[in-house]
Amino acid sequence: MALIVQKYGGTSVGSPERINAVADRVARWRAEGHDMVVVLSAMTGETDRLIKLAKQMHAEPPARELDVLLATGEQTTIALLSMALENRGVPARSYTGHQVHILTDNVHGKARILDIDDARAREDLAKGRVVVVAGFQGVDEFGNITTLGRGGSDTTAVAMAAALKADECQIYTDVDGVYTTDPRIVPQARRLDRITVEEMLEMASLGAKVLQIRSVEFAGKYKVPLRVLSSFEDGPGTLITYEENEMEAPLISGIAFSRDEAKVVVRGVPDRPGIAAQILGEIGNANVNVDMIVQNVAADGNTDFTFTVHRGEYKKALEILKVVAKELKAREVIGDDKIVKISVVGVGMRSHAGIAAQMFRALANEGINIQMISTSEIKVSVVVEEKYLELGVRALHSAFGLDKAA
Ligand code: ADP
Ligand code: ASP
Ligand code: MG
Repeated sequence: MALIVQKYGGTSVGSPERINAVADRVARWRAEGHDMVVVLSAMTGETDRLIKLAKQMHAEPPARELDVLLATGEQTTIALLSMALENRGVPARSYTGHQVHILTDNVHGKARILDIDDARAREDLAKGRVVVVAGFQGVDEFGNITTLGRGGSDTTAVAMAAALKADECQIYTDVDGVYTTDPRIVPQARRLDRITVEEMLEMASLGAKVLQIRSVEFAGKYKVPLRVLSSFEDGPGTLITYEENEMEAPLISGIAFSRDEAKVVVRGVPDRPGIAAQILGEIGNANVNVDMIVQNVAADGNTDFTFTVHRGEYKKALEILKVVAKELKAREVIGDDKIVKISVVGVGMRSHAGIAAQMFRALANEGINIQMISTSEIKVSVVVEEKYLELGVRALHSAFGLDKAA
């Protein structure tokens, strides 16, 4: 008998039929004698619908109130699943984040989990109940409802699994595992039987939304046994692994991409100490995250300073830079929000040279111009024009031999 945490995403609870299917699976696992904790997302599209509603009330909805609103999506599904379980004679109790004491910091909209008091869940499990927990939400020290950022139910599940020392955390979604790249973009993508936590971390942070990045960070920190599976069909899914056997690792495990990118350029800034600090200091003060940074070699004592930000923060970044540029007497500020980032990821890269060159050649063969490059030990990322996203991802997928056999 094991303690299992299962998480079901939006599509997996998107209708009464889907919720009944979830209830059937949970009932089956419980009938086999396992202690079951189930974490749910809101029904598919519900969080977007609520955000739209909020925007009809206020162009920039107050963050605290937005969280109160968004948390209702998950409150609906947990109640419905508990009813479906009770209907099958399976005792169940649903809980909001507040009720199971998922304590977070008070950064509304992207709160971090600080602590979980698992007493209530344990009590219920001891009484034979299935514990159904609202994903994506918590409560701060003042009792305010917080949310964990889009995709945050993954993080709730992994955090619950860590707190309860679960035997496995199973993330059920609409694909049957983690693929070499998004199967919706590349039909030749292959499901991976296993992926190392390091690679999964890179894939998630570089745009593969199958797992929220914070859930992978949490899993890595507490070594939570984690598996991604389909709620639509049975199968082994993909296991996230923690051992470091890189001898057998493929060169490249996956291709990730992100459309949420924009770039800004401050042109003609003086090339002297303190300039980068001043530009990025103002950006940081406004809580705008910066990703890639490039500073050109100076000519005539002047240089261009370029960096990328999340597309949602593009306008904000431009506004800040216009002010900074005046102070610095920079020539101009320009930007482009029609760019994307494509990355190749693999621990095998550590022991092989030439991956970057191979990547650039594959893109060049398709006539795709590279605007920016960044590398780390196990990934190479490039920024390209948005219209090349699919072509670029497919070209790389096949260049690195990831396509499934025809
Ligand atoms: P859920 O609502 O269940 O949380 P998400 O939409 O958040 O589901 O995540 C699953 C989706 O992630 C898939 O439908 C797929 O399009 C996308 N995805 C992106 N990259 C990958 C990848 N490498 N492997 C599998 N799925 C991926
Ligand atoms: N419902 C939230 C979202 O749509 C959280 C989640 O599904 O994980 O982002
Ligand atoms: Mg998700």
